[in-house]
Amino acid sequence: MEKGIGVSSGYGVGQIVKIEEADLNYQEKKVEDAEAEFARFQKAIETFKERTTAMAEKLRQSVGEKEAEILEGHIIMISDPAVDDQVKTQIEAGTCAETAFSSVCDLFIQMFQMADDELTNQRVTDVQDMRARLLKILLGIEEVDISQVPKGTILAARDLTPSMTVGINKENVVGIITEVGGKTSHSAILARALEVPAVLSIPDVMTKVENGQTVAIDGNSGEVIFSPSPEEVAAYEKKRADYLKEKEALNALIGKPTATMDGKTVELVCNIGKPKDADDVVSRDGEGVGLFRTEFLFMDRNQMPTEEEQFKAYKEVAEKLQGKPVIIRTLDVGGDKEIAYLDLPKEDNPFLGYRAIRVCLERKEMYHAQLRALVRASAFGDIRIMVPMITCLDELRQVKEMVEGIKEELSKEGIPYKEDIPVGVMIETPAAAMISDLLAKEAAFFSIGTNDLTQYTMVVDRGNAHVAYLYSTYNPAVLRTIEKVIKAGNEAGIPVGMCGEAASDPNLIPLLLAYGLDEFSVSATSVLATRKTISKWSMEDAKTLAEKVSKLGTEAEVAKMLEENNSNFPPEIRA
Ligand code: PEP
Ligand code: MG
Repeated sequence: MEKGIGVSSGYGVGQIVKIEEADLNYQEKKVEDAEAEFARFQKAIETFKERTTAMAEKLRQSVGEKEAEILEGHIIMISDPAVDDQVKTQIEAGTCAETAFSSVCDLFIQMFQMADDELTNQRVTDVQDMRARLLKILLGIEEVDISQVPKGTILAARDLTPSMTVGINKENVVGIITEVGGKTSHSAILARALEVPAVLSIPDVMTKVENGQTVAIDGNSGEVIFSPSPEEVAAYEKKRADYLKEKEALNALIGKPTATMDGKTVELVCNIGKPKDADDVVSRDGEGVGLFRTEFLFMDRNQMPTEEEQFKAYKEVAEKLQGKPVIIRTLDVGGDKEIAYLDLPKEDNPFLGYRAIRVCLERKEMYHAQLRALVRASAFGDIRIMVPMITCLDELRQVKEMVEGIKEELSKEGIPYKEDIPVGVMIETPAAAMISDLLAKEAAFFSIGTNDLTQYTMVVDRGNAHVAYLYSTYNPAVLRTIEKVIKAGNEAGIPVGMCGEAASDPNLIPLLLAYGLDEFSVSATSVLATRKTISKWSMEDAKTLAEKVSKLGTEAEVAKMLEENNSNFPPEIRA
């Protein structure tokens, strides 16, 4: 058995079709007629754009808008006037179009490799894909047509480029394996959107497999079996059938209420990072937005988004959600979230330092623009403002005061807004949890951020491998903190939600129900599975389990008990 990175879930058993890379070697030649050579380059660019637009359109219909935009991004990159300028200069110096373009791509690649976030690093594949496609046009090489592979194919490639992925007919392709790539590479995103199981980064896979060889892959665990035995094939086929049945069963939950077996309804909303993500919330039947991480609006750019830009983004989400609740969290910067142009000081302990609301309350002008954009957008839907990293009451009071001031300003200017726009808080620090009864009197709602709450309660830096064993929400200290916060919110009559990863953990869901959580905020892809898990529990059973768990002393004991209870359910609702 081999192991790679499972990036698109599901099981596949099929026969290998190897996608060999085209031979892009060419004879370099000295250019005499620079004008004609540049015209040849520009003609190739035109063909590139035409083909890419057609591919993007195909992808838009077969998969979706977001995926089509990946290819359209190639057109934007290649249309950058700097590309033209640099190629032209090199051609004028006697370099052929192939080499000139290739060296410009190298510059892009170097730039993307140097970035210290994985997402930008992954863009290297996009540039390589773009280069290969343009070289093929310049060299007159026809592209491989993946759309013609037979039924039951497992595609094997060194790297699966976004343009290759476009041709995939998911009726015929049952799996994808590659030598390179990771969870955030565009090919992984596309494989997930196509719902084709994929395992990437299997060392030397192209030398290990032959065309026609049978292979079984597990897109969750990343396990791959070359030439499986008949028993192994049968086992994978059964897993595949169960998995598909499970997915089908989940789709049946679209449009259904989120309720426990005995009829207690809870709210099931989504976490988003960009206005476009609201489309996924709607298509996966999320009942609103429980966390819009606005820091993403501030990232990937060189200056702060203006009030107007922010207003448009918030309004877009509110409108897409058509009156459903939209909780928008104000800027949560610092800690591990860096925004270069904000020029935050380097600190020894960034997680304990100048971050989130602490920055916002000091940089009032910046915060005022964000709050004003939010209050203005409240006229277009059910927008609720959420303040991150609260540790004391004064912070909430200051924000509310600013919001009141903004309302007065807007009234004077005749700009509409919702008078009773709720201002709630994230409970993600032990300090906020300890004073949750006091906060509940002045906050419109709570949302528990278990990602940070676990870190701060256990005093464990998430990035530190030495202490990673302590980073678990199952620790009795964390569970008691969560229970206390929910109780304080319930007693004060304010809604209590959870937007940390724990909200979609099927092991934890019964405990959260028993504690009285009102709202679960999860990623759009987890909505239906979470709805299913909730529906399998009665409040009585959940409370019995919570009672038993409350008597356990260690994280391991809690994990064991929760897992055992979860595994009593049929596979379609286990994560
Ligand atoms: C959290 O801390 O649980 C949370 C939802 O916020 P973030 O993950 O953005 O820090
Ligand atoms: Mg947080």
